[in-house]
Amino acid sequence: MAGFLEDRMRLFRFLSVIHFVGNSFLKLCSFTSVVKKYVCGEKEQIVLDGKRKRMDGEDETFAREVEGFFYLFPEFGDVERGFSDFHNFSLNCGKPIATVLVSTQERCRMCGKALAVDPNIHVVVIYHEQRGTYLGSRVTKCCRTCKIYEHYGYWTQEGKRHYNDDCLSNEFLLSSEDTAFQNTLVRQCANFLVVGAVPFATFAQTFNRRFGYDGTSKSNYNGIQSVPAVKRMKRYG
Ligand SMILES: [Zn+2]
Repeated sequence: MAGFLEDRMRLFRFLSVIHFVGNSFLKLCSFTSVVKKYVCGEKEQIVLDGKRKRMDGEDETFAREVEGFFYLFPEFGDVERGFSDFHNFSLNCGKPIATVLVSTQERCRMCGKALAVDPNIHVVVIYHEQRGTYLGSRVTKCCRTCKIYEHYGYWTQEGKRHYNDDCLSNEFLLSSEDTAFQNTLVRQCANFLVVGAVPFATFAQTFNRRFGYDGTSKSNYNGIQSVPAVKRMKRYG
């Protein structure tokens, strides 16, 4: 088998798998085999007897390549762990861009002209189910002729806000000019509220406690640099 690291498409597929599952698939040869087939695009092999299959020569070669890759780039084993590094790096550069919320709209919805991108970046506090609270940025696009401003998930004209039909299928919901919630977190909270499991204040308290924002822990749970306390979810609790 040719080295998969030399093939860009295979490398892309490999990195996407690593993003989803980390390197834990190396622990079981049947898992390694599935990943190898996905990365290398080989035909599925049906195992009829259901017994643990021994690694064949190609699987072993693939596993050795992956192990070599992780030896050289151990941080790829946990992409999410690298998030706080990049977040803190972007904060220190004065541009919090670990998450950038920008509309995918390229042309004005009224006149069809290409939208201009506002060079002024607005900082947004982001509430994330796994990462806790951190700073990101939002970018505005506009049509100067129609005075339409396109934001992530909604657009405004003459001061009126119009939500896009698909705004709930975005990863984030921009709930105010400086606040965005990950939609899975919103759904989780709504779920608790609907079944009457916990009031919002309790949900907010558990979020703050989980990430060490409740004053019981000096350092953040996930190593993300501190965001001013006033911006924590308890403000909304
Ligand atoms: Zn226009």
